[in-house]
Amino acid sequence: MTKRFDNRVAFITGGSRGIGKSIAENFAEDGAKIAIIDIDAEALQNVQSEFRDKGFDILALQANVVNSQEVEATMEQVIQEYGSLDILVNNAGIIRDNLLFKMNDNDWDQVIDVHLKGAFNTTRAAQKHMVHQKYGRIINISSTSALGNPGQANYSTVKAGLQGLTKTLARELGKFGITANSVAPGFIETDMTKSTADRMGIPFEDFLKAGASKIPVGRVGKPSDIANAVAFFADEQSSFVNGQVLYVAGGPTN
Ligand code: NAP
Repeated sequence: MTKRFDNRVAFITGGSRGIGKSIAENFAEDGAKIAIIDIDAEALQNVQSEFRDKGFDILALQANVVNSQEVEATMEQVIQEYGSLDILVNNAGIIRDNLLFKMNDNDWDQVIDVHLKGAFNTTRAAQKHMVHQKYGRIINISSTSALGNPGQANYSTVKAGLQGLTKTLARELGKFGITANSVAPGFIETDMTKSTADRMGIPFEDFLKAGASKIPVGRVGKPSDIANAVAFFADEQSSFVNGQVLYVAGGPTN
């Protein structure tokens, strides 16, 4: 039986847990070969074993998205092993939340680096292969925080920045059969939102309940909700959908 992403190679940053892992698993279940990069060697090893046990093709490689040499080296390795690179998902992310008057230089620089320098590094490395093969799908993971969120001056800036990058890539690369789109999640239950609850001293269950009460569909999101939207943009048949931002947040909240 043919599958939606047969013969496709998907490269996902920050793919060893949370939203990135779910995106990788969804692609793999639909036939894609998967490459993920991440920093944590043990997490990479675990996800590689788990996916191989399920019969998926996966390369789990250690690289920091901020380091362009590491990104390029891992991408070359993926091309060598799999022969192409069709889908890039810029998902790796961190938060360093604080009100502006308490935000230090490191909080600002690290968030700007991981999200924006990271997406620049991977996209620049990927586009040369995609242009050559005249096919590509680039999906950037933004956030509802792009619309503004107190305590996240750094994070809301990068998530809005990723939307600008998406629209520019769409215009530069469209003629090569490459589309660029963005998925902007709302509240998703992952280690990232758990760390926010921990920082605020709120039990995670209470934090989830409070979040759900503000969301029109009455629940917080799951990583698979985001994987589903990413797969729509990554589909070969979505070739006329380019430069878009899809908010996946259970409905508007303001
Ligand atoms: P998460 O559970 O914290 O996972 C983030 C992943 O990114 C981790 O695997 C982490 O690897 C990796 N990563 C961080 N810095 C990296 C770097 N420099 N190089 C390579 N990998 C790096 O977060 P998540 O909730 O799944 O978030 C995934 C994406 O969705 C992020 O871009 C986030 O901003 C966005 N998002 C999340 C939510 C939400 O509610 N959860 C909402 C909107 C948008 P290590 O384990 O090695 O640190």
